[in-house]
Amino acid sequence: MNKNYVVPWGKRGSVLAAPEISVLTELVEGGQPLSMGTWRDRFERAFADLVGSRHAISVTSGTVALELAIEMLDLQAGDEVIATPQTYQATVQPLLDYGVRVRFCDIEPGTLNLDPAALESLITARTRAVLLVHYGGCPAEMDQIMSVARRHGITVLEDCAHAQGAKYRGRRPGSLADIATFSFQNAKNITTLGEGGMITFDRDDWAERLDRLRSNEVDAEIDQQYWTGVDEPVVLPWMKYSASVYTDRVRRLRRAGTNATMSEAAAAVGLVQLDRLEEVERARRSIAARIDEVLGGYSFVTPQSAPAHSEHSYHLYTCFAQTQELRDQLLLSLDRRGVQIELRYFPQHLLPEWRHQGHGPGECPVAERLWFEQHLNLPCHPGLTGSQVDYLADALDHSLAELNGSPSPRFSVA
Ligand SMILES: *Cc1c(COP(=O)(O)O)cnc(C)c1O
Repeated sequence: MNKNYVVPWGKRGSVLAAPEISVLTELVEGGQPLSMGTWRDRFERAFADLVGSRHAISVTSGTVALELAIEMLDLQAGDEVIATPQTYQATVQPLLDYGVRVRFCDIEPGTLNLDPAALESLITARTRAVLLVHYGGCPAEMDQIMSVARRHGITVLEDCAHAQGAKYRGRRPGSLADIATFSFQNAKNITTLGEGGMITFDRDDWAERLDRLRSNEVDAEIDQQYWTGVDEPVVLPWMKYSASVYTDRVRRLRRAGTNATMSEAAAAVGLVQLDRLEEVERARRSIAARIDEVLGGYSFVTPQSAPAHSEHSYHLYTCFAQTQELRDQLLLSLDRRGVQIELRYFPQHLLPEWRHQGHGPGECPVAERLWFEQHLNLPCHPGLTGSQVDYLADALDHSLAELNGSPSPRFSVA
C-alpha cells in the first residue's frame, strides 16, 4: 500500500549534504582510482580509532561483514553457537552454512538484548561462539556477557549494525567483544552511499585472513617457504610471479576469497559521515527524548531502557505496551493519524529456515511474547523535520489518551 504518511518511517538513516558532495567531486575530478585507492585505508584507520579497535576491514555490506567475521570463528559441523533471536536475519543466517547447532538465547524484556542470565545455561562443551546485537542501538550488557564467555573460552561477536554512536561504560561498540560488524546501509545511522560494512577486531592474524578473503584470494594456511621467493630482488614487479614462487605448500584451505572491496566513493563518503556522527546522534536523541516525555505520561506503555552506564544510539525507538490489545490499538491509531509504524524484527527462531532445523515456538518465550503482544517501533531518524517531530509527539499523545479513556491529552502541540 502506498500511503503518504505525515511522519514516514524514514527514507534514509543519515544526512548527506555539501561535505559528502564535495568529497565525491574531489574524487571524480581528481582522476584518482575509484577502487583500491587511499580513501579506503583512511576510512578504515579513522573507524578503528573511533571504536577503539586495532583493525577495521571495510566490505560491501553488513551482511558480508557478518559472513566474513563468522568465518573467523573456524566453526566445524557439530559445534554449537548461541545467538540472539531478536535481530535482523543477516546476523544468524551465515550459520546455516556451517552445520552448527544454533541455540537461540532468550532476551531481556526491558532491552530486547541477549539475556546474560539465560546465556550460561545454554553453554555446553561444544559451544564455540556467542552472536549478539545491540538491539536498536541499546547496548547489550557486555560486562556480564564477556565474563561468562571468558570463563568458558567462547568467542563473542557483536553485530553493531544499529550501534553506531552508542556507548557502553564510555566505550564504543565495536571494541566490546572479540570481533564486531557494522552496516552502512541506507537506513543505518551513517551510510556509505547506501551500502557498506565494516569488521573491527584486535587480532593480527584475522586482519591478514580478512584482507585476503575480501579480495579474491584464498584463506589458507601456507608454509612460510611459499613466500621466500617474493622477497628476492626483482627487476620489474611482475617478475616476482615466477613459477618457482607458486609452490604446493598450502597446508589447509579454509575458504575461497570473494570481491567485497569497498569502493573509493563509498569510503570517502564514509569518512565524511564519521564527522557527522555527533550531529546525527544529537538529532536521534532529541527525537527519542521527545517521545520519552510523551510516554512518561502513561503507565501502560514503557520505553526500552538502556543500561544506566550506557548511551543509546536510537537507531530504532522501541517501546512496549502492557497488552496485545493496547499494542494493536496503538498501532492502528497511529497509522490512522499518518504516523508510519514498522515492527523490527520477527524472532529468528520462528523463520522457516530455522524451523526446518527443529526450532520453534516456546524456545524463547520472552522474545515471542514481546514480539507478538507488546513490541512497537516509532519513527526516529534525522530526516524528520521539527514539525514532523511535533506532529509525532502530538499524535502519540492523542492516541495514548484515547486508549487510556482520558478526556484530553497531557500535551497538545498542534
Ligand atoms: C542492516 C542489518 C544487517 C545487515 O546489513 P546490510 O548492510 O544491510 O547487509 C545486519 N544486522 C542487523 C542487525 C542489521 O540491522
